Order: sequence, then structure tokens, then C-alpha cells
Amino acid sequence: MDLNFSFKKNKNRTMKRPPQIPLNQFQLAILLNDDEKQFYNAVLAENVFCRSCAGSVAKGVTVTEIHLTDLNDLLVRGNCKVCKGLVARTFEFGDKKAFYDRAMKFRKDIS
Ligand SMILES: [Zn+2]
Repeated sequence: MDLNFSFKKNKNRTMKRPPQIPLNQFQLAILLNDDEKQFYNAVLAENVFCRSCAGSVAKGVTVTEIHLTDLNDLLVRGNCKVCKGLVARTFEFGDKKAFYDRAMKFRKDIS
């Protein structure tokens, strides 16, 4: 029997993703570098889909919730500034190693 193999398998199965946590604006500002902030603001200004408007938000989004997801992506919820309809957008920052590492350090710092 390959003990090493079964150990690895077991380890993988029990390995947990970090929980989704809510962020406030201050925490978000710490987490994002300048490029990411610029991208974040540009997307929320005009690149979020609004179902009621059947297109991109024309006047941007009023952000009501920000979450750091279990994949270290950002999930943002808010309201379309034109129709007040609910909108949401995921920023897949967790795919970038630099952000992922920053997010893991941030989780440690606030826990
Ligand atoms: Zn709308």
C-alpha cells in the first residue's frame, strides 16, 4: 500500500478554501494596488451589466456590498445609478498571484 499516496489524497479532500468575507471601502483600498483600483473604478463606472436597462450601466454603480470570495476574487453588489436595479460584478483578481498572495496576507492580518 502506498501510504504517501493516500495521505496526499486525504489532504486534498480536507483542504478548505478560505471563507468569503465582507470588505469595507477602507479594507478594499488597502487590498488593491493602483492598477487594480483604476480597473475597479473603470468597470464600475460603465462596464457592469444591468438587467433592467438591458445593457451596461450608463451612469455607474452605487456599491452596497463588497466581498472577498473563497477564490480571492472580488464580488461587488450594488445598484444601477439610472434605474436603481440590483447589479453584481465579479472581479477575478484571485487569478493573479500578486493579488492572491496579498489577499491571503490580508486575511491573516484581520483574523
Ligand atoms: Zn439600470
